[in-house]
Amino acid sequence: MLFLQAGGAPVVPRDGTRRAVLQAAALVAAGILPTGAAAARDVAEYLGPHFPYSLFDALPTSAIESDGGKIDIAFAPGHLGQRKTTIVDWIAQSANAITTYFGHFPVPRLRMLIVPVAGNAIHGTTWGNFGAATRITLGEDASDTKVAQSWVMAHELVHVAFPSLRRDHLWLEEGLSTYVGPIARAQAELVSADYVWDWFMSGMPDGLPQPGDQGLDRTHSWGRTFWGGALFCLLADLRIRAHTENRASLQTALRAILAEGGNGEAHWPMARVLEVADRATGVPVMTELYEQMKDRPVAVDLAGLWQRLGLSYGGGSVHVDDEAPLAAMRRAITAAAAAPQASQ
Ligand SMILES: [Zn+2]
Repeated sequence: MLFLQAGGAPVVPRDGTRRAVLQAAALVAAGILPTGAAAARDVAEYLGPHFPYSLFDALPTSAIESDGGKIDIAFAPGHLGQRKTTIVDWIAQSANAITTYFGHFPVPRLRMLIVPVAGNAIHGTTWGNFGAATRITLGEDASDTKVAQSWVMAHELVHVAFPSLRRDHLWLEEGLSTYVGPIARAQAELVSADYVWDWFMSGMPDGLPQPGDQGLDRTHSWGRTFWGGALFCLLADLRIRAHTENRASLQTALRAILAEGGNGEAHWPMARVLEVADRATGVPVMTELYEQMKDRPVAVDLAGLWQRLGLSYGGGSVHVDDEAPLAAMRRAITAAAAAPQASQ
């Protein structure tokens, strides 16, 4: 195994994953209500722990067509700090990134609710059970530029393209969005490859196991959920590429899962995700990596990994070395035309 060292013993899983995250998101949102009591009361209706389908369906919507699907956009009452065109362009460009990565838009129809709130933060939450739906709480003080460049929309749209899993596998849902979101934006030429690797090199250390941590199914901290999951995805991507001479990748696996109906409206067991992924790539990488990382803390030599990929920091920015052993793999991950085909 190129990248892994495993150790430690399993312990009893902790409670709460998806619910805790959703509740936290709702509480964060609820704490930043807009100014004006009436507006605050109106907006609070849109900020509960569930997507407000009936409220959404009563709002006027405008539609964006994206290859294979439609996004209905609605704005909740409140003061919008940005031009509507900025927000609609942000949605359209992020949808284009997702379409580029997955080959088509992942669901026939997505409800997209924009809720203006106070402050300058941008948060997103996505639901699937009653029809794919994304809610963005958009701080009125966030500049148009900040919105246009925000990663949040692409992150949420990756959730729309992958099935819901059991709660102790939330790390894979969040890890995929954290990993695939920026790669999809790079493939659609919305951000540079350097942006992606800078993001990964700064974030991945948060995914390493801390003292006392267990495997990904058992330790549900923020770092292990988002970046531990992303690190799993990076390792899976690199191993699939290594075993197939770069012909297949994590992208091959994710397209196959989507082709079998595994979008954000579906609920899949982990076993099915792994089976479809391994069948599509022709190598049992996902199953093996999951077995290694599910219930044990796995130390990853990130410094060595960046070096083999030809990545280093200097003068505040990322430097790339195209002579590094895994440089071709690194370039293929973000390549604009990247659409590796299944090996069978
Ligand atoms: Zn997420």
